[in-house]
Amino acid sequence: MERQIINLGFHGIGHPIGRDFGPGERDYWVSPELLRATLDACAHRSDVSLSFDDGNWSDVAVVMPALRERNLTATFFVNVGRLGSPGFIDRHDLRELAGAGMPIGNHGLSHLDLTRLDPAKFEHEVTQGRRLLEDLTGAAVQTLAIAYGAYDDAVLERLRRLDYQHVYTSDGGCADPEAWLQPREHLKAQHTALDVARLLTQS
Ligand SMILES: [Zn+2]
Repeated sequence: MERQIINLGFHGIGHPIGRDFGPGERDYWVSPELLRATLDACAHRSDVSLSFDDGNWSDVAVVMPALRERNLTATFFVNVGRLGSPGFIDRHDLRELAGAGMPIGNHGLSHLDLTRLDPAKFEHEVTQGRRLLEDLTGAAVQTLAIAYGAYDDAVLERLRRLDYQHVYTSDGGCADPEAWLQPREHLKAQHTALDVARLLTQS
Protein backbone atom coordinates (compact mmCIF):
# COMPACT_ATOMS: atom_id res chain seq x y z
CA MET A 1 0.00 0.00 0.00
CA GLU A 2 1.17 3.51 -0.75
CA ARG A 3 2.15 5.77 2.09
CA GLN A 4 -0.87 7.40 3.69
CA ILE A 5 -1.07 10.52 5.77
CA ILE A 6 -3.52 11.93 8.30
CA ASN A 7 -4.77 15.47 7.78
CA LEU A 8 -5.69 16.87 11.18
CA GLY A 9 -7.92 19.92 11.08
CA PHE A 10 -8.49 22.39 13.90
CA HIS A 11 -10.68 25.45 14.23
CA GLY A 12 -10.43 27.84 17.16
CA ILE A 13 -8.57 27.18 20.41
CA GLY A 14 -10.24 28.09 23.71
CA HIS A 15 -13.30 30.18 22.89
CA PRO A 16 -14.23 33.04 20.55
CA ILE A 17 -13.40 36.55 21.71
CA GLY A 18 -15.59 39.47 20.68
CA ARG A 19 -18.21 37.32 19.00
CA ASP A 20 -20.44 34.31 19.71
CA PHE A 21 -20.00 30.81 18.37
CA GLY A 22 -21.38 30.50 14.85
CA PRO A 23 -24.01 27.81 14.08
CA GLY A 24 -22.58 24.39 14.89
CA GLU A 25 -19.21 25.90 15.68
CA ARG A 26 -19.07 25.23 19.43
CA ASP A 27 -18.26 21.54 18.93
CA TYR A 28 -15.12 22.42 16.99
CA TRP A 29 -13.26 24.65 19.44
CA VAL A 30 -10.76 22.63 21.46
CA SER A 31 -8.87 23.42 24.64
CA PRO A 32 -5.29 24.74 24.62
CA GLU A 33 -4.35 21.56 26.50
CA LEU A 34 -5.67 19.33 23.71
CA LEU A 35 -3.89 21.49 21.13
CA ARG A 36 -0.58 21.10 22.97
CA ALA A 37 -1.03 17.35 23.52
CA THR A 38 -1.85 16.89 19.83
CA LEU A 39 1.12 18.94 18.66
CA ASP A 40 3.41 16.99 21.01
CA ALA A 41 2.12 13.77 19.47
CA CYS A 42 2.75 15.12 15.95
CA ALA A 43 6.12 16.70 16.56
CA HIS A 44 8.18 13.86 15.11
CA ARG A 45 5.78 12.50 12.55
CA SER A 46 6.12 13.22 8.86
CA ASP A 47 2.79 11.54 8.10
CA VAL A 48 0.58 14.12 9.80
CA SER A 49 -0.45 17.36 8.13
CA LEU A 50 -1.99 20.08 10.30
CA SER A 51 -4.44 22.82 9.38
CA PHE A 52 -6.44 25.53 11.14
CA ASP A 53 -9.66 26.89 9.64
CA ASP A 54 -11.55 30.17 9.78
CA GLY A 55 -8.84 32.67 10.77
CA ASN A 56 -9.79 32.86 14.43
CA TRP A 57 -7.95 35.15 16.88
CA SER A 58 -6.28 32.08 18.40
CA ASP A 59 -4.34 31.35 15.18
CA VAL A 60 -1.70 33.94 15.98
CA ALA A 61 -2.06 34.34 19.75
CA VAL A 62 -2.11 30.64 20.68
CA VAL A 63 -1.40 28.36 17.73
CA MET A 64 1.58 30.03 16.09
CA PRO A 65 3.75 30.07 19.25
CA ALA A 66 2.81 26.45 20.01
CA LEU A 67 3.80 25.40 16.48
CA ARG A 68 7.09 27.30 16.58
CA GLU A 69 8.07 25.79 19.94
CA ARG A 70 7.86 22.39 18.27
CA ASN A 71 9.30 23.36 14.91
CA LEU A 72 6.00 22.52 13.22
CA THR A 73 4.14 24.23 10.41
CA ALA A 74 0.44 24.18 9.59
CA THR A 75 -1.72 25.50 6.81
CA PHE A 76 -4.11 28.28 7.83
CA PHE A 77 -7.33 28.36 5.81
CA VAL A 78 -8.56 31.94 6.00
CA ASN A 79 -11.74 33.77 4.96
CA VAL A 80 -10.27 36.99 3.70
CA GLY A 81 -13.63 38.80 4.01
CA ARG A 82 -13.55 38.28 7.78
CA LEU A 83 -10.09 39.72 8.37
CA GLY A 84 -10.24 42.40 11.04
CA SER A 85 -13.77 41.47 12.20
CA PRO A 86 -14.21 40.92 15.96
CA GLY A 87 -12.73 37.58 16.97
CA PHE A 88 -10.77 37.05 13.75
CA ILE A 89 -7.21 37.78 12.72
CA ASP A 90 -6.49 40.93 10.74
CA ARG A 91 -4.25 41.68 7.75
CA HIS A 92 -1.22 42.22 9.94
CA ASP A 93 -1.75 38.82 11.61
CA LEU A 94 -2.15 37.17 8.22
CA ARG A 95 1.19 38.56 7.08
CA GLU A 96 2.75 37.42 10.36
CA LEU A 97 1.55 33.85 9.79
CA ALA A 98 2.80 33.87 6.20
CA GLY A 99 6.09 35.45 7.28
CA ALA A 100 6.56 32.66 9.83
CA GLY A 101 6.48 30.14 6.98
CA MET A 102 2.90 28.99 7.51
CA PRO A 103 1.17 28.21 4.20
CA ILE A 104 -2.04 30.20 3.74
CA GLY A 105 -5.00 28.52 2.06
CA ASN A 106 -8.33 29.79 0.78
CA HIS A 107 -11.48 29.08 2.82
CA GLY A 108 -13.72 31.27 0.68
CA LEU A 109 -14.24 35.00 0.88
CA SER A 110 -17.09 34.84 3.43
CA HIS A 111 -17.38 31.21 4.56
CA LEU A 112 -20.36 30.39 2.35
CA ASP A 113 -21.75 26.91 1.60
CA LEU A 114 -20.47 26.32 -1.95
CA THR A 115 -23.29 23.92 -2.81
CA ARG A 116 -25.78 26.81 -2.58
CA LEU A 117 -24.07 29.30 -4.86
CA ASP A 118 -24.89 30.08 -8.48
CA PRO A 119 -21.89 30.29 -10.84
CA ALA A 120 -21.38 34.05 -10.40
CA LYS A 121 -21.53 33.92 -6.60
CA PHE A 122 -19.30 30.83 -6.58
CA GLU A 123 -16.74 32.68 -8.69
CA HIS A 124 -16.82 35.66 -6.33
CA GLU A 125 -16.57 33.56 -3.16
CA VAL A 126 -13.75 31.32 -4.34
CA THR A 127 -11.74 33.31 -6.87
CA GLN A 128 -11.96 36.69 -5.18
CA GLY A 129 -11.06 35.08 -1.84
CA ARG A 130 -7.93 33.59 -3.37
CA ARG A 131 -6.94 36.76 -5.21
CA LEU A 132 -7.17 38.94 -2.10
CA LEU A 133 -5.19 36.45 -0.02
CA GLU A 134 -2.49 36.40 -2.69
CA ASP A 135 -2.40 40.21 -2.80
CA LEU A 136 -2.06 40.44 0.98
CA THR A 137 0.59 37.75 1.42
CA GLY A 138 2.46 38.17 -1.85
CA ALA A 139 2.42 34.39 -2.28
CA ALA A 140 0.45 32.00 -4.48
CA VAL A 141 -2.46 30.28 -2.73
CA GLN A 142 -2.33 26.61 -3.75
CA THR A 143 -4.88 25.04 -1.43
CA LEU A 144 -8.53 25.45 -0.50
CA ALA A 145 -10.57 24.00 2.36
CA ILE A 146 -14.27 23.66 1.64
CA ALA A 147 -16.38 25.63 4.17
CA TYR A 148 -18.63 23.36 6.28
CA GLY A 149 -17.09 20.43 4.37
CA ALA A 150 -20.12 20.87 2.08
CA TYR A 151 -19.64 19.80 -1.51
CA ASP A 152 -21.26 17.88 -4.34
CA ASP A 153 -20.14 16.82 -7.82
CA ALA A 154 -20.87 20.26 -9.27
CA VAL A 155 -18.72 21.98 -6.64
CA LEU A 156 -15.82 19.61 -7.26
CA GLU A 157 -16.13 20.09 -11.01
CA ARG A 158 -15.90 23.87 -10.63
CA LEU A 159 -13.01 23.64 -8.19
CA ARG A 160 -11.08 21.30 -10.48
CA ARG A 161 -10.90 24.04 -13.11
CA LEU A 162 -9.24 26.44 -10.68
CA ASP A 163 -5.83 24.85 -10.52
CA TYR A 164 -5.52 24.12 -6.82
CA GLN A 165 -2.83 21.69 -5.76
CA HIS A 166 -5.05 20.27 -3.02
CA VAL A 167 -8.66 20.75 -1.94
CA TYR A 168 -9.48 19.73 1.64
CA THR A 169 -12.77 18.24 2.81
CA SER A 170 -14.03 17.21 6.24
CA ASP A 171 -14.63 13.59 5.27
CA GLY A 172 -12.23 11.93 7.72
CA GLY A 173 -9.93 8.95 7.26
CA CYS A 174 -6.46 8.65 5.74
CA ALA A 175 -5.27 10.50 2.66
CA ASP A 176 -2.96 9.80 -0.25
CA PRO A 177 -0.58 12.78 -0.02
CA GLU A 178 -0.48 13.08 -3.81
CA ALA A 179 -4.26 13.20 -4.25
CA TRP A 180 -6.04 16.40 -5.25
CA LEU A 181 -8.89 15.83 -2.80
CA GLN A 182 -7.68 15.54 0.79
CA PRO A 183 -10.00 14.23 3.53
CA ARG A 184 -9.40 15.65 7.01
CA GLU A 185 -10.11 14.52 10.53
CA HIS A 186 -11.37 17.44 12.60
CA LEU A 187 -10.51 17.83 16.24
CA LYS A 188 -13.61 18.34 18.35
CA ALA A 189 -14.37 19.82 21.76
CA GLN A 190 -15.13 16.45 23.31
CA HIS A 191 -11.96 14.74 22.09
CA THR A 192 -9.37 13.61 24.60
CA ALA A 193 -5.66 12.99 24.09
CA LEU A 194 -6.56 9.30 23.84
CA ASP A 195 -8.94 10.02 20.93
CA VAL A 196 -6.14 11.90 19.20
CA ALA A 197 -3.76 8.97 19.72
CA ARG A 198 -6.37 6.70 18.09
CA LEU A 199 -6.79 9.10 15.15
CA LEU A 200 -3.04 9.10 14.64
CA THR A 201 -2.78 5.31 14.48
CA GLN A 202 -4.87 5.20 11.28
CA SER A 203 -2.08 6.00 8.85
ZN1 LIG B 1 -14.71 26.94 8.28
